[in-house]
Parts: sequence; structure tokens; C-alpha cells
Amino acid sequence: MAQIIDGKQISAQVKAQVAEEAAKLKERGISICLAVVIVGDDPASRVYVNNKKKACELVGFRSREYALPASTTQQELVDLVQQLNADPEVNGILVQLPLPKQIDEHAIIRTIDPKKDVDAFHAENVGKIMIGDYHFLPCTPAGCMDLIHSTGVEIAGKNAVVVGRSNIVGKPMAMLLLHESATVTICHSKTKDLAQECRRADILVAAVGKANLITGDMVKPGAVVIDVGMNRLENGKLCGDVDFASVEPVAGYITPVPGGVGPMTIATLMRNTLTAAKVQNGLL
Ligand code: NDP
Repeated sequence: MAQIIDGKQISAQVKAQVAEEAAKLKERGISICLAVVIVGDDPASRVYVNNKKKACELVGFRSREYALPASTTQQELVDLVQQLNADPEVNGILVQLPLPKQIDEHAIIRTIDPKKDVDAFHAENVGKIMIGDYHFLPCTPAGCMDLIHSTGVEIAGKNAVVVGRSNIVGKPMAMLLLHESATVTICHSKTKDLAQECRRADILVAAVGKANLITGDMVKPGAVVIDVGMNRLENGKLCGDVDFASVEPVAGYITPVPGGVGPMTIATLMRNTLTAAKVQNGLL
């Protein structure tokens, strides 16, 4: 039976630390503000934005929401981001993805000032993560690293398998594991024998977006299993990429969905916003 890694509890600890530091900065006259931009009315995006705003309140940040209609043009969004870049009161800018089809996500991410890019999606920040010299951690992968650290399992020298190679999860996740000296394999939709690759993993991270893709027979006994997936089933239930029922008896540690990686992503976003404020005030 695996030990459950409690993302809610660990994220609460991270947010408590951020709140403590934010309070100290406030005493020095530095008040932290995150600008959150949402375009259109995607219900999942609305939930994420609300959760991010709630987290800001909890840690003592101000948040400003910019809710734009689905018909917003690329130029209108670029103009807003440039306005936020220039606003000294705004420390972090988050543009909730996905964006409507008429807007080029890459162009918008390129427009965000890298010093305010609290999602760490800008090429400058991605490059810094690649060379291991960074202020901003990519939110979801950094949250996964916190969860792995919480187990006390040594990462150096272990076989880590990351399933998924997206720019926002899979690739930076592999990089963070590599920085901690894991031997890293990245799997994707063209991987020949996914089950065999996964069975070699001491640390297995699933970031695919396919419900219950990873089953018990694909997991090495005792492995640390981190489930990034957030899939909505037909009955409305949220489930991960890992088939919890068959994997939990095999794994050593496992994250639940919900209550695993999701809360950690938001906690890291708060930490990044704090970091942004420190950098902008010459404290880092
Ligand atoms: P993407 O769709 O961008 O990437 C999915 C990756 O999975 C791709 O690299 C794809 O391969 C790979 N893949 C697809 N099918 C298979 C398969 N059968 N076997 C192996 N690999 C496969 O998704 P994201 O990275 O953005 O997100 C992944 C999941 O994580 C989603 O469920 C998302 O909702 C969730 N998520 C959760 C967050 C959280 O805070 N908990 C935050 C961000 C994401 P290829 O490149 O070859 O197409």
C-alpha cells in the first residue's frame, strides 16, 4: 500500500511561508500584486483564475483581474500586457491559457516582461531553467519536485520517467529532475513501449491528459508516482492519468487527484510572485 502524498497539506505549508515573507515585505512598504488576465469564458479557466485569486488573498497579495471577451484581438491583449509590464504596482503577470484561436499564445508570452513572468513560460526564463540559473520555477514541475522531496526519497542516481513532453509540464519537469541528478527518460505519444519504460522508473511522473493511462502493471514496486493529469470523466468526476486503484497497491508513494499536484501549482505561483517582488525591489 502506497503512502499518499498530501498536496493540500504541503501546499498549505508553502503558502504559509510565502505569507510570512509577504508580511515582512509589507512592513518595509512593499505590497505585492499579481495581475491575472483571462480571455473568454472557458469554465475550467474560470475555476483556475478564481483559485489563484483566492490564494493571493490567503498569502496577503493583492490581485487584479482583467476579464476580456472571447472576441479580444491579439493586439488588444498585447496592449494590455504592455500596460501591465509598465505598471510599477504590478509584480507578476499571469495570462491564463488556453487563449482563443485568433490569439497567438507564443506572441503573448513573448510580450510579458521576463521579470514579471510568474508562470516562467517566457523563452528567457525557460532558457534560465535549462542552464540551472533561475529565479522563477515552472509552477507545476516545481510543485511536483516539492511533493517528491516530501517523501524523503533520494533523487540522485534514480531512474525518473516523465510521461509527456509539453513545454509547460513534461520538458521542464525532466529538467528539474536532471538538475537533481536523476537519470531521466521522457516518454510521449510515439514511445514504442510505454509500459516497459514506466516499469524502470523509481520516480514516475505522468503528465499526459489521458484518464487512467498508467496502470498497476506499469509501475515498479515501491516507486514514487506523481500524477499531474487532470481529466474530467463523463460523470463529471476529476481523475488523473494514473489508475489509482491498481497503482496504489504497487507504488511506494502516490499523489491523489484531486489534492495532489493541483494545489502545489498554485502554491508555486505564489512563491514566484513573491520572488518577482523581491527581484523588482533589488532584494534578490
Ligand atoms: P499536453 O497535451 O500539452 O501534452 C501531453 C503530452 O502527453 C504530450 O507530450 C503527448 O505526446 C503525451 N501523450 C499523449 N498521449 C500519450 C500516450 N498515449 N502515451 C504517452 N504520451 C502521450 O498536456 P499538458 O502537459 O499541458 O498537460 C498534461 C496533463 O496535466 C493534462 O491532464 C493537464 O490538464 C494536466 N495539468 C495539470 C496541472 C496541475 O496543476 N495539476 C497543470 C498543467 C497541466 P506528444 O508530444 O507526442 O503529442
